[in-house]
Amino acid sequence: MEDGFGRRISYLRVSVTDRCDFRCTYCMAEEMTFLPRAEVLSLEEIERLCGVFVGLGVRKLRFTGGEPLVRAGVPGVMARVGARHLGQGLEELTLTTNGARLARFAPELAAAGVRRVNVSLDSLKEARFAAITRTGHLPAVLAGIEAAAAAGLAVKINMVALKGVNEDEISPMLAWCGARGFDLSLIETMPLGDMSGRVETHLSLATVRERLCQHWTLRPSAHATGGPSRYWDVAETGARIGFITPLSEHFCASCNRVRLDVKGRLYLCLGHEAAVDLRAPLRAGASDETLDSLVRAAMRIKPERHEFEIGRPAVARYMSATGG
Ligand code: SAM
Ligand code: SF4
Repeated sequence: MEDGFGRRISYLRVSVTDRCDFRCTYCMAEEMTFLPRAEVLSLEEIERLCGVFVGLGVRKLRFTGGEPLVRAGVPGVMARVGARHLGQGLEELTLTTNGARLARFAPELAAAGVRRVNVSLDSLKEARFAAITRTGHLPAVLAGIEAAAAAGLAVKINMVALKGVNEDEISPMLAWCGARGFDLSLIETMPLGDMSGRVETHLSLATVRERLCQHWTLRPSAHATGGPSRYWDVAETGARIGFITPLSEHFCASCNRVRLDVKGRLYLCLGHEAAVDLRAPLRAGASDETLDSLVRAAMRIKPERHEFEIGRPAVARYMSATGG
């Protein structure tokens, strides 16, 4: 499946819920209104669409949200999608999670064919973690990470770099990850949803990288995902560090991904409103062939590049609706 610019689209991120047990300051407002159930794709609809996308050449599926593990039945969907498609076109089935429920679900996810998991972790200090996530409890997340590793899952930690909030923890986090064999991805805040406070906490990862180089030996890594992350090997630990910098560097030329939101809209770019509704045709009884051609047609409107700018919301939706 190719888009209008000749890019091969092989990666689908599926937001399976807009709900979450955390309220991270950069992601959600304190009071959120979530979608009524009827608006959200059912688990069966998600499963069916995953099949359609794999049939069209998607090789990697990532479940995200909201928090994927707060929706009952999500590990079951992953198990069915894994059993049906892994090794039959699909090469990787994975998820991004806040980790709070991983202690319970890690073995089930491993049995579903999940081999790696991204866990968001912005601080190793309990009070600070609680302040950033508003409702999160650090020990539960650390137990989840431990359970994931014990279940044989490769763990990558996602840390949003927040100026004046957790920037002093970036180097310690790199050491913590290195000691456990986890890769670390640092993420710049993106201008999505409610912008309050976002500009003040925006921290350029170019600056962070320069600072890290004073203590660590970072060498450009051959590892590439086609995504917005640039990786470096950390000589001292043997693990990798990635910098996800949608604002200060463009990565669009190698973009291989599209996103399905909770309402069944296929978003072609995180920084654009361009989307195609798949829920209505799905609920009107569309055949797989019809869904195939709708998805193929959608690829024609994938924008060439995003238009993020610091201080200006490119799109009004929250990351939790489209999936980070
Ligand atoms: N709840 C899961 C989690 O936290 O990992 C999955 C969904 S969350 C939206 C996915 C990722 O997006 C997380 O790593 C989170 O830190 C990141 N994120 C959320 N809002 C963001 C923003 N405004 N800018 C940059 N990253 C953001
Ligand atoms: Fe929830 Fe993830 Fe957003 Fe935090 S970043 S509020 S854990 S969806």
